[in-house]
Amino acid sequence: MRQKIILGNWKMNGSRALLASLLPPLLRESFGSARVGVCPPVAYLGQVAAIIEGSSLELGAQNVNEHDKGAYTGETSVSMLKELGCRYVLVGHSERRQYFGETDAIVAEKFAIIRRSGLIPVLCIGETQEERDQDQTDQVVFRQIDAVQAHIGSDAFANAIIAYEPVWAIGTGKTATPAQAQDVHQLIRRHIAETAAGDAESLPLLYGGSMKAANAAELLAMADIDGGLVGGASLDSREFIDICRAAA
Ligand code: PEP
Repeated sequence: MRQKIILGNWKMNGSRALLASLLPPLLRESFGSARVGVCPPVAYLGQVAAIIEGSSLELGAQNVNEHDKGAYTGETSVSMLKELGCRYVLVGHSERRQYFGETDAIVAEKFAIIRRSGLIPVLCIGETQEERDQDQTDQVVFRQIDAVQAHIGSDAFANAIIAYEPVWAIGTGKTATPAQAQDVHQLIRRHIAETAAGDAESLPLLYGGSMKAANAAELLAMADIDGGLVGGASLDSREFIDICRAAA
């Protein structure tokens, strides 16, 4: 049995007031065997770490630079994220691919440095609406996975997480149906089993794309959906708590 994992991706949202309203109700809950984490903007990582210290709530970052250190103004390194108490780092989110020019090659470099540092990479993959309409979903997600394996080796996904996030479902309110999401998750697990070393059965596969309290339980009930990467709904403590309860 794979443990369920729910991660909240706050994107570029938040304020001190949000930390004060969102985190205390979350800290009062317990979610059984499910792991729950939040990925606030880097500006708030330190404050969130201080608030959640000693609890089972985990911390993740939304991005990291692919270099160890140096003259990269405005960037954040893996060692900084470790010092701040992060456990997870999102990598390859479609917004980073789309707005910040992150290619499969850059994503693979970021994935490699995250993994080397001992942090857990959460590789985000998924197709656009146009790609789905042209029946290219498998090709796109396999290409995104293979780019990481080509760079790192066939054990790339040992101690990593993959989040399947169809681009057409992110922030649109349009969720993949449980059957649509399960189909792709099953394909991904099969592809990993065929191409990677290690145990594809133990690899956590999260679904992301307009997950909310109203649809979380049915998505999380699918055989290959091991949790959720939650954007918009993670900014509302009631919604996020209800999603985490569905995973408990
Ligand atoms: C995301 O950005 O990872 C995401 C899944 O967003 P949303 O839940 O808002 O669709």
